[in-house]
Amino acid sequence: MSTKCIFCEIVRDPSSSVVVYRDDVVFAIHDINPRAPIHLLIIPVQHITALSEMVGDDELIPMHIARVAEEMAKRQGINEHGFRLVINQGKDAGQTIPHLHAHMIGGKLLGDMG
Ligand code: 5GP
Ligand code: ZN
Repeated sequence: MSTKCIFCEIVRDPSSSVVVYRDDVVFAIHDINPRAPIHLLIIPVQHITALSEMVGDDELIPMHIARVAEEMAKRQGINEHGFRLVINQGKDAGQTIPHLHAHMIGGKLLGDMG
């Protein structure tokens, strides 16, 4: 947990109503600035800044994120249409929050990756 991290703040606040999915490993929230009709952030509960910071069993987290993305796509009714799952890591990718998270984006025909 990091005291100044917005994602850690959200997940440790039991009154937070923005969490739409939660298990022991990850939680999901709607992005505050959605770039598509469905734009969720799937976030490890544990404060990990980057893929490269993962040690030991942490390596299971990306696969778990993928499974949860699929489950959320089913719940949102877009699994048949498809979705995009993206991790921005570092400056060139435009990562703004230094707590690992995946964007699950869908609900429209998505353009090419920039
Ligand atoms: P990044 O660019 O780091 O991959 O993505 C960070 C994402 O978090 C952005 O898409 C931004 O809109 C979203 N975001 C930033 N602050 C908040 C917040 O307080 N609540 C929610 N739900 N999303 C946020
Ligand atoms: Zn954090």
